[in-house]
Amino acid sequence: MDLGIAGRWALVCAASKGLGAGCAEALVGEGVHVVITARGEEALQAQAERLRALNPAVQVRSVVGDIATEAGRAAALAACPQVDILVNNAGGPPPGDFRDWDRAAWLAALEANMLTPIELIKATVDGMAQRGFGRVVNITSGAVKAPIDVLGLSNGARSGLTGFVAGLARQPRLAGRNVTINNLLPGAFDTERLGKTLAAGAAKSGQPLDELRARRMAAIPAQRFGSAAEFGALCAMLCSAQAGYLTGQNILLDGGAYPGTF
Ligand code: NAD
Repeated sequence: MDLGIAGRWALVCAASKGLGAGCAEALVGEGVHVVITARGEEALQAQAERLRALNPAVQVRSVVGDIATEAGRAAALAACPQVDILVNNAGGPPPGDFRDWDRAAWLAALEANMLTPIELIKATVDGMAQRGFGRVVNITSGAVKAPIDVLGLSNGARSGLTGFVAGLARQPRLAGRNVTINNLLPGAFDTERLGKTLAAGAAKSGQPLDELRARRMAAIPAQRFGSAAEFGALCAMLCSAQAGYLTGQNILLDGGAYPGTF
């Protein structure tokens, strides 16, 4: 199916690896020009080259910087001639016990996983509305729907973003102008982040890494982790011309792990 977005411009944040990279790949496959960002130059340039090889017809621009800072956001926005599609993403906060988190830890989580997406939405949605097309996808987490004890910083910061988006997406000046804002909630995806989390869990518990991995997969009805390509494909569908009537939603992509009916 042609998603009807070839020639559009997308800003895909935190996209040198993992889920952000999967989203950029799917969009480039659809003929979308992209600006990708990440903090590490080497991985970002390598990913930009992969994207160019994937579809030589599109323009790929890369911006090195921390998207959770004002300078990082300004540089990313400046590199994008117009933002038709915004994919909000950043690294997740560290796990731990809330008794150990000071104010600085909370502010860092809020900055990266709540205020940064809100700032980028603020900078882009009115222009999208003026042009009569806009798609915003926020990469959040399954933890918004089913909180994970050790990820309290993530549970809290991402729920704040989710509540804000629920109200904003329903403004007629956006929804009525073909601007949609949705959240994509990953369950367990086979990315570098998940690999590091599993390795840390194995080291702490003394269990072999392979066994821990297999046990985590067995607990998911799909019996496996998701891939960044699957995540990117759904992101591209949410950004499609056809998805204009879908807004303000939280879409869980978790292989059936969430046990509720709704
Ligand atoms: P990842 O570590 O594999 O990749 C993260 C990417 O973001 C990298 O390209 C990194 O360079 C970039 N990045 C991180 N912080 C950045 C910043 N401040 N500015 C610019 N670039 C930055 O992670 P992932 O697995 O792709 O996860 C993406 C998001 O989804 C994270 O917020 C994560 O917490 C969340 N999430 C992931 C999973 C999973 O199973 N992978 C599950 C739930 C939620």
